[in-house]
Amino acid sequence: MHVKVHPNDNVAIVVDPEGAQYRERVPQSHKVALTDFASGQPIIRYGQTIGYANRDIAEGSWIREDMLSLPAAPPLDELPLATAVPAPLPPLEGYTFEGYRNPDGSVGTRNILGITTTVQCVAPTVEYAVRRIRQELLPRFPNVDDVVAITHTYGCGVAIDAPGAAVPIRTLGHISRHANFGSAPLVVSLGCEKLQPARLLPQANLLSGSVPQLPVLEDNPYVIRLQDHELRGFGEIIGAILRYAEKRLEELNQRRRTTVPAAELNVGLQCGGSDAFSGVTCNPAVGYAADLLVRAGATVMFSEVTEVRDAVHLLTPRAANADVGRALIREMRWYDEYLARGSADRSANPTPGNKRGGLSNVVEKALGSVAKAGTSALVHVATHGEKVTQKGLIFAATPASDFICGTQQLASMNMHVFTTGEGTPYGLALVPVVKVSSRTTLAERWYDLIDIDAGSIATGQATIADVGWQLFRFLLDSASGRKKTWAEHWGLHNALAPFNPGPVT
Ligand code: CA
Repeated sequence: MHVKVHPNDNVAIVVDPEGAQYRERVPQSHKVALTDFASGQPIIRYGQTIGYANRDIAEGSWIREDMLSLPAAPPLDELPLATAVPAPLPPLEGYTFEGYRNPDGSVGTRNILGITTTVQCVAPTVEYAVRRIRQELLPRFPNVDDVVAITHTYGCGVAIDAPGAAVPIRTLGHISRHANFGSAPLVVSLGCEKLQPARLLPQANLLSGSVPQLPVLEDNPYVIRLQDHELRGFGEIIGAILRYAEKRLEELNQRRRTTVPAAELNVGLQCGGSDAFSGVTCNPAVGYAADLLVRAGATVMFSEVTEVRDAVHLLTPRAANADVGRALIREMRWYDEYLARGSADRSANPTPGNKRGGLSNVVEKALGSVAKAGTSALVHVATHGEKVTQKGLIFAATPASDFICGTQQLASMNMHVFTTGEGTPYGLALVPVVKVSSRTTLAERWYDLIDIDAGSIATGQATIADVGWQLFRFLLDSASGRKKTWAEHWGLHNALAPFNPGPVT
């Protein structure tokens, strides 16, 4: 049994290697030739050329990654802009979830005390304080879910005025005011670092230092500076952090969930450890759910520039207008140049696991990856670390690296969907991460890590729509706190990894 995606395809993906009769044994999720290929002939999957046969290949053969040569990437100056804008999808009304409405209008899905650090130097101190807060303070505030240290490797020893520095700074600034923190930051600074609190949060009227007096203005973030002369010894430093934390916990404990429309969801999509089934099962199911979310008025972000680059010619026609199309091209070009500076190109993307899973190259990976974007018009393109406030389908530029993509999407998202074929126990502390598997064998083996199995689509036991609806409903339940994801259950929190394209000094 095998899966052919598009009528023009001359290869298919093997579902059941034991039950199939081919010229040779073809492993599950790998490609089988449906015709004889002469050397130089295009190999077509998803109706697109994923490579050229670099030798003669007989029908029924296993097409391995070394048998394809990589096609050139779509040229960026010849792309059609907004030439096939999809008509608006019919509205989907009446879907709600229970969320935390913040004073700035944003909506949280969890109630968390977040403690931002301006620099790595203070990270272990804040982590120490977080352990104390969890033990000594949190039990007194039953409406607060957790306390999280926002630690990272940025903040000093960097060219802070270089153009690339804006990316990690705005990412961390938006994360500090995350909807799940009630949009109000609590900042711990060392004092001498390059990334001063006022640079991290330029829009805020910061009151720094002067512990133990607490700031008097209500919407101001609290800033603790460890080098403040009033603090003597580690005990007083931790005491100051605990005092500020207690004040924030009192405020957060007043938050209550209220019924809000599904339009308040901002869902970040990404994939990791993909295989050749990803583009047939989990990613199309996520694309179906993305359409449901767009119909409900929500925000859906897909990302990962290197996994969109080779499918960009399928997306620029879907741009709502030419400006959006040009913005998409701008992000592709920026990344092409970024990779070229490092003497690399898009072919650096697939991993050994991707290849083991049957993905021959980045073109095949990209064509499967963009299925997550569903079928609606692309209404906005956000640059790296930008906070997305628009509704509808958004491309938010990020690297494809799982933890960097997740970190950048945290600038905006209140829910995260993660598809995987090879499997990863990935999770984030700030938002629920819903993991969707591309095949049932993974969902069965990792029954307590995978939230939704899309593998049943390959065997015909479920449709893309079935799994899409299942994911849509799961998102509403999880956003409401009625359901926990497995990553939440186990407390799996990948480190934050802001993208720093700027120089380190
Ligand atoms: Ca990824």
